[in-house]
Amino acid sequence: MTKGILIYAEVTRDNYIHTVFFELANKAQELAAKLGETEVNALLISKKGLAEDYREAFINSGISKIYVCEDERFETYYTESFAKAAVDVINEIKPEILLIGATNQGRDIAPRISTALHTGLTADCTGLDINEKGQLAATRPTFGGQLMATILCKNMPQMATVRPKVFKPAENDNIKPADIIYKTVNFDGIEKKVQLLEFHKKLMTEINELDSAEIIVAGGRGMKNTEGFKLLKEFADKIGAAVGASRVAVEMGLATHEMQVGQTGKTVTPKLYIACGISGAIQHTIGMDKSEKIIAINKDAKAPIFEIADYGLVGDVFEILPQLIKQF
Ligand SMILES: Cc1cc2nc3c(=O)[nH]c(=O)nc-3n(C[C@H](O)[C@H](O)[C@H](O)COP(=O)(O)OP(=O)(O)OC[C@H]3O[C@@H](n4cnc5c(N)ncnc54)[C@H](O)[C@@H]3O)c2cc1C
Repeated sequence: MTKGILIYAEVTRDNYIHTVFFELANKAQELAAKLGETEVNALLISKKGLAEDYREAFINSGISKIYVCEDERFETYYTESFAKAAVDVINEIKPEILLIGATNQGRDIAPRISTALHTGLTADCTGLDINEKGQLAATRPTFGGQLMATILCKNMPQMATVRPKVFKPAENDNIKPADIIYKTVNFDGIEKKVQLLEFHKKLMTEINELDSAEIIVAGGRGMKNTEGFKLLKEFADKIGAAVGASRVAVEMGLATHEMQVGQTGKTVTPKLYIACGISGAIQHTIGMDKSEKIIAINKDAKAPIFEIADYGLVGDVFEILPQLIKQF
């Protein structure tokens, strides 16, 4: 008998729960309501003594039970030990759906779990639903983003990874502390193939900036060269925005990959996204179309970006941006 939705609660190196967990918890409530009588539970693998703190953090997320595997050996993420702990718990509690954030860690552990459990995994989803048969319908871009495919999983648990920022985080008024259920971890037979020798924290980069930015000014091929991106940065600084880019701009060497928005870049949901010289290919818009407001500046009035923009400025970015900088 398989029951419930289980969400992998990723613990970051600073001992926070990754924000994608709260986004998945929110979506899971909706899925659970469609399934009827379904609990949403969390799986937490961490070093000792943090479960109570995390219970506080989960209080608004509608989580019923937190299955906790704790051990000092879980202070650092290792694929083999984390996957083994997860598989043992899943085999015991048999959830019907398992959701994991498509973070670096999530992308590493999810295929391990699905292989060990002989079940399917729909990776990097942009949508989740329950179909008329009560199955998880996981949607993700395919054929280079030209098509959206909705994928069903034949086996249990039905697994999906979802990128951060695709769903809104939980804002559940129903403040109810979850039950904590400790699980013993059997480390027998775990072959540790790698060892962390040192950890170098990346300095504040565009990754973090894009993640938390309320305003993003993004540039594409239309920004033409480094001078164009300097202009973009000047405008972004004026209005307190982070700078993003299309893949073409990255390929032209005008921006780093960390700044890329889209299918093979980041998914962002700022309050305001200003697309400058970006045509609006689906592979780009998939990463920014959930922004609260979108402004597009493009000299081609027929550019697809205008189809999703709330406001459009048809004209040359090299004329419009200096005017905007002056005005601000
Ligand atoms: C598997 C796959 C994954 C991909 N992943 C991504 C991804 O993650 N992110 C991404 O962005 N793309 C991605 N792409 C590429 C995507 O298909 C597009 O090629 C890309 O988004 C186009 O970038 P662009 O809009 O900057 O360039 P273009 O499509 O060339 O558009 C440039 C725009 O600038 C306008 N313009 C030119 N000069 C000016 C000017 N002076 N003033 C105003 N406007 C001007 C033009 O009218 C045009 O609309 C992916 C493609 C594939 C196949």
